[in-house]
This record gives sequence, structure tokens and C-alpha cells, in this order.
Amino acid sequence: MRHAGRLWEDCHAGHRGASAGGAKPLTRRHNAGKAARGCGERPAGQLIGGLAMGGLAWHHRGMSDNPDPAAPGAAAPRPRAVRAAAPRRLRLPAALPYAAQAAIFSRLRAANPHPVTELEYRDAFTLLVAVALSAQATDAGVNKATRGLFAAAPTPQAMVALGVEGVTEHIRTIGLFRQKARNAVALSQRLIDEYGGQVPSSRAALMTLPGVGRKTANVVLNCIWGLPAQAVDTHIFRVGNRTQLAPGRDESEVERAIEDNVPAEFQGSAHHWLILHGRHICQARRPRCTICPIADLCPYEPKTTDPLP
Ligand code: SF4
Repeated sequence: MRHAGRLWEDCHAGHRGASAGGAKPLTRRHNAGKAARGCGERPAGQLIGGLAMGGLAWHHRGMSDNPDPAAPGAAAPRPRAVRAAAPRRLRLPAALPYAAQAAIFSRLRAANPHPVTELEYRDAFTLLVAVALSAQATDAGVNKATRGLFAAAPTPQAMVALGVEGVTEHIRTIGLFRQKARNAVALSQRLIDEYGGQVPSSRAALMTLPGVGRKTANVVLNCIWGLPAQAVDTHIFRVGNRTQLAPGRDESEVERAIEDNVPAEFQGSAHHWLILHGRHICQARRPRCTICPIADLCPYEPKTTDPLP
């Protein structure tokens, strides 16, 4: 609503009338700024946030005790409110066509027909704990820590008995070890309390466990139950975008792009092939394009051309 040259009372009478007449009612937000500004209504169409506050100032800048806008002392005509442009989302390239997807995964499969995770584990429980511990840590570092941990606590019951302090002693070489130790004990307790000491086999149930997010749940679903679940980590995110096998602005988009574009016969191991490719060949700082088995199919530019370090 516009108020230039209107009395404070007029302003509120207008609001009351709008409210009574079934138009835009007054809201708590409307009233929140009254003390500071004399009236709290946010002008229709103004954005919430910084622009909205600017809109409020604009809204009342012209309020005075003089109802005639042409009279001396009346407010100058207000400029039109400028709506801030919404940030434009990056436009993604199209995913590689089906034939190129199939060709790339055929080569990755030929190089490693039966890829497996590099994390060491004994069963679903130890895999779940190992993956939960692996955030911001290398698989090698996690393996070093879990060898002793799983020897001491191979079951949820043993993990709870070991306690947070005991777990901490085994994993203090990996990042965020205090929080991870608390999570390992808490998720073990939850498995005992709610799942009979077994690791549940649905994503939703897994994601209720402390320290278990979608990525961890997808690794467990893929490695233990063979579901074509795509656990997108930093390596898969990078490879998916560089190769355009699975372009995406964030992990969830890349996950969906893999599910949508990768031929079904490769879905079960796609996660392993992509993560191993990213870890050992398509490395973050310097992709090793000269030894890459899919270089001729990869649209990423510029490729590295110098010999291997
Ligand atoms: S050619 Fe280079 S950029 Fe493309 S996938 Fe291979 S290593 Fe990565």
C-alpha cells in the first residue's frame, strides 16, 4: 500500500479496512515494525529480507501529517521499487548421450570388472560404522583406525560396551573423531533399541541413525544389498561433471543424473567405478588425462597433456 502524504491514522485505517473487507489482512509481520516505523505493513510485492526492509522504509518515507502531496513539505514522488534480480542458476550441459555413457562404462568395467569399496569391513554393521567414520577422512586412514576398533567392538552391543571414550581411543587419528565416536556409540544403541541389533535395509531407516546421511545409507544399500544406490561424494561429483556423465549443481542432482542416464547394466557398480576413477585418475587438482582410458570420450577441456609426474 502507498502512504505518501497520508496520515498515520489513514494508513492504519486503510489496513483495517483491507482486513475487514477480506483483502490482505494484517499479519504479525505487519505489526512487528510498528514501534520503529510507525506502521509495520510490508508493501505488497516486496521481498522478505534486506529488500523488504528497504521497502518498509520506502513505504513510510512519504508519511507525514500533510495529506496533500502537492502542498509544501509534501514528500517527493517515490521512485518505483526495484526488485532485486534473483540469482541465475548455472546452466548445466546436457548429459552425454546413451551410446557415450555405455562406451565409457564399458571401458571402466573392462579395466575393473568387479570393483569394491576400499573401506575394510566384516558385515553390514562394520561397513555402516566405517562409512560413517569416513567423512572428511581417507579410506586408508579409516582402515587404519577401524582394524583395532572392529577387533574390540565387532557388534553394536560391543560398541556400546566399549563406550565413547573407548571408541575415541581407537579413532583419534581421523578427523572429527570426538563427534564420530559419539555417533558410533549412539547409532549402535539405536540399532539395539529399534532394529534388534541388525542394520536396517531401507534408506529411510538408515538415515534415522545418528551420523548417517543419504550418502552413507546409499553405500550400505549398494555394498550390502546390491541396490543401484549412488553415493555421491566429492570424487563422483567432480567426475560426473567433468565427463558430463552426470552433470549436476549439487550431490542430489548428480545422483539423479546417474540414475537417469547411466544404462541399467552399469548402475550397480557405477558408484565404485566413478569414485575409483576420481580418486586415482581424474584427480581434483590435476586430472591424469594422459593415462585416462576414457580421454577420447571425455568432453572436459582443457585436458592435461604433460607426462605423468
Ligand atoms: S580425460 Fe581427464 S578430465 Fe576427462 S575423465 Fe579422464 S582424467 Fe578426467
